[in-house]
Amino acid sequence: MNNIILTGDRPTGRLHVGHYVGSLRRRVELQNSGKFDKIFIMIADAQALTDNADNPEKVRSNILEVALDYLSVGLDPAKSTLFIQSLVPELTELSFYYMNLVTVSRLQRNPTVKAEIQMRNFETSIPVGFFTYPISQAADITAFKATVVPVGEDQMPMLEQCQEIVRKFNATYGETLVEPKILLPDNKACLRLPGIDGKAKMSKSLGNCIYLSDTEEEVNTKVMSMYTDPDHIKVSDPGKIEGNTVFTYLDCFSRPEQFAEYAPDYSCLDEMKDHYKRGGLGDVKVKKFLLKVLNDELSPIRARRKEWETRLPEVCEILKEGSRIAHETAAETLCEVRKAMKIDYFSADNGLV
Ligand code: ATP
Ligand code: MG
Repeated sequence: MNNIILTGDRPTGRLHVGHYVGSLRRRVELQNSGKFDKIFIMIADAQALTDNADNPEKVRSNILEVALDYLSVGLDPAKSTLFIQSLVPELTELSFYYMNLVTVSRLQRNPTVKAEIQMRNFETSIPVGFFTYPISQAADITAFKATVVPVGEDQMPMLEQCQEIVRKFNATYGETLVEPKILLPDNKACLRLPGIDGKAKMSKSLGNCIYLSDTEEEVNTKVMSMYTDPDHIKVSDPGKIEGNTVFTYLDCFSRPEQFAEYAPDYSCLDEMKDHYKRGGLGDVKVKKFLLKVLNDELSPIRARRKEWETRLPEVCEILKEGSRIAHETAAETLCEVRKAMKIDYFSADNGLV
């Protein structure tokens, strides 16, 4: 069996450091590992429209932003197929068939959908498209016969739902679809990066993000305003690490060699944490260290983005060609699905007559 990756992002804004530690960084590693036969990276515009139906301009204007973010973190169009979801109409058809295999109550139990409905104040007026997006996500994954889906923790219920759909489909219509595995970040702190406000998840919708394309000055302002331990008032006060966003970010981003370079009083993050817990280490000092750490990670990304921003027609070509390949691949799967479902009425080997 081939090793195939499918993953993606909604074009509802530029990508942020939560996307980076939750999924993007891993994608680039996997891409460069040479262990995968095919890698599909999808800009999920159709999914973004499920909760932005009245704002198509937002979705449209973020297509190139997300593509630029992809290219600037090191996704390479020679190794990964970058494509736009709505240019692959087979995904819509697959979703329509999968809808028959999922109950309304099963969708209602999906904890991520539940939380997102609440966050968007959709309780009394949930768009049907939004409610069913886990099904459309199953179509996205299975259309490419993905074996591995590298995503953040919030996607776990989506993957479980997708696996159930695959099992149900295969049990009903015969072995056709491939069951995917979720690949979560190894580093626990990266599973769900909190926002700079300390809220549980950095999310475009919550406006608490550090974007990959933020300037050094913007990152500086954001880090300096970051949520720490509200009871750590004087430098000499003992401080808390749990729920302290600055330390969570250090867990995700800092590398051992950065201590010798930027914080030589400590040999590792644990020593810095111990000092903070004892008291005597001020927030500003930790934040300044975090800034250096973040800057190490973000400056090459910014530089590559600047370069790609001057080549937008080429970026469009990459998306166009990627979408063509994705369309072809999904069409092959759809043929198999139609055959399994006995709706391939005029096919050469299984037609009606
Ligand atoms: P929206 O608010 O529009 O839903 P989002 O910021 O949640 O946007 P998505 O496009 O829904 O971003 O998510 C894309 C990918 O990034 C998914 O794999 C998701 O798990 C991952 N991801 C998003 N936010 C975080 C985060 N804060 N920490 C870790 N991973 C994240
Ligand atoms: Mg999301």
